[in-house]
Amino acid sequence: MGASEANAVNKKGKRTPGGGESSSSERGHFIREIIAEDVRAGKNDGRVRTRFPPEPNGYLHIGHAKAICLSFGMAQEFGGLCNLRFDDTNPCTEEEQYVETIKEDVRWLGFDWEGPELYASDYFEQMHEYAVRLIKAGKAYVDSLSAEQISEYRGSWTQPGRNSPYRDRSVEENLELFERMRAGEFEDGEHVLRAKIAMTSPNQNLRDPVMYRILHAAHHRTGDRWCIYPTYDWAHGLEDSIEGITHSLCTLEFENHRPLYDWFLDQLGVHHPQQIEFARLNLTNTVMSKRKLLELVREGCVSRWDDPRLPTLRGLRRRGYTPEAIRAFCERIGVAKTKSVVEMALLEHCLRQDLNRRAPRRMGVLRPLRAVVENYPEGQVEELEAINNPEDAGAGTRKVPFSRELYIEREDFMENPPGKFYRLAPGREVRLRYAYFVRCVDVVKDRETGEVVELRCTYDPDTRGGDAPDGRKVKATLHWVSAPHALDAEVRLYDHLMLDEESEAPAEETDWKARLSPDSLQVLRGCKVEPGLAGAEPGWRCQLERQGYFCVDPDSSEENLVLNRTVTLKDTWARIQKAQKK
Ligand code: ATP
Ligand code: MG
Repeated sequence: MGASEANAVNKKGKRTPGGGESSSSERGHFIREIIAEDVRAGKNDGRVRTRFPPEPNGYLHIGHAKAICLSFGMAQEFGGLCNLRFDDTNPCTEEEQYVETIKEDVRWLGFDWEGPELYASDYFEQMHEYAVRLIKAGKAYVDSLSAEQISEYRGSWTQPGRNSPYRDRSVEENLELFERMRAGEFEDGEHVLRAKIAMTSPNQNLRDPVMYRILHAAHHRTGDRWCIYPTYDWAHGLEDSIEGITHSLCTLEFENHRPLYDWFLDQLGVHHPQQIEFARLNLTNTVMSKRKLLELVREGCVSRWDDPRLPTLRGLRRRGYTPEAIRAFCERIGVAKTKSVVEMALLEHCLRQDLNRRAPRRMGVLRPLRAVVENYPEGQVEELEAINNPEDAGAGTRKVPFSRELYIEREDFMENPPGKFYRLAPGREVRLRYAYFVRCVDVVKDRETGEVVELRCTYDPDTRGGDAPDGRKVKATLHWVSAPHALDAEVRLYDHLMLDEESEAPAEETDWKARLSPDSLQVLRGCKVEPGLAGAEPGWRCQLERQGYFCVDPDSSEENLVLNRTVTLKDTWARIQKAQKK
């Protein structure tokens, strides 16, 4: 294993910070080293060909992004190519609609493939031919045990398996039965084709695994042409071999299957890709299993596959994530062989770093409190100059209107402030960003509830632009918008989808939905934003000063501006790292 594992992982797969301090500069990881060495040694004539093989039975998520960045990234880096191949060997769960969205998502992430996408189903004929070859060589046989019997005969970790009574059928009988299986003469489950390896192997995957099963089901691409379908174990290595893949990068659960893939390829004497396994990405505070994601969508716990709370690429995109931030995250977490759980805070940190550089700044008030500047002339409007992005001088400036009636953030005012509250309070002066110093001189309350509904203020005309000529200081700078000019907006605030990380055995967890966070979505209506946001297109991003990064949602219309908060400004990653170091 490479010494440069970016995740300071621990053996038990416990929560770990992911992306240690040094990792951003360490570009090496064990897979990169293996490929570099192969290229140096002239293996495969120095050629690098990888693949990303999604099953078209769901949407891609951030975990797939790790696999995509790795396989496409390695191909790019070594001047090779990466195939996008749909692993569509199971007619029962796969759907055409997923194919298009997966292609779109891979492209959105910033990767492309040469020529059309590939399909495992295009190799069905070739796989069948290979199977016949194995039967002829006495390396495969038709078994007529039921599925339950097969699993009973397989034994267990502690028990060796037993031979099926059909194991010694003659080659001729096997060929004939297999032909009749293909011709549709049998019902589902009547027979299977199995590899003849060893029922006593300590690796259960080698105990005569099933290669073909009878399934009278239509396939989304081959229609009714087939009623026998290859199992994943039989098909997967062949797909890589047929495509001339040199490095087949896959997740750890396939490690125990590698000896089987090797066996098939050796028996057939065909091109032998090198399979290298790496640990899946696990993230805190979310779920990534397809089953769970599907359940959330089906049961209406989230709106759809692109719900901004989901870790699907569609969800992240709608939330306002950039492909650059996701790629930076994938580079940062690195690749290792040890299981680990990466903090969501690291993903958010990578996002902030990207958006900080390029998101224009705007002002918007999420929970408005009206403030009237009593000494500002009624009807007067000034256009004040505001900086678009302090991180990017090229982003220039814009004008924001200032007038007698403003909105400020309700939480920026306290009638009886405690010691550490430095923002607005009765009698106190603060700076309004890019505008003037204002002082609160009075409050107006709702007669019945006693709630503060309006502030009365005065401004100092000599502080235009935000500084006092007499050098007097204020302790706070607030964002604001001019009330008559403000646009109404609906703002959707998000928090983590799940309260804590997935348990160690996510598949067995029964009550996982009890961990759904009750605060994952909060909708605020009647928010006020500066007029420059009028007409902002879905997908447009900005930072609302002091409130976070936001992105215009596809639900947005001219009448109703809808903003998703992509992420807050508070970076918890640095704090987590500090705590980890202690
Ligand atoms: P399943 O096979 O159970 O339907 P899957 O998540 O493996 O689910 P695939 O469509 O088979 O989905 O995934 C395509 C590729 O993405 C696989 O090669 C898999 O190894 C990789 N992948 C899936 N989840 C992750 C993850 N969390 N981290 C890294 N790679 C992943
Ligand atoms: Mg899979």
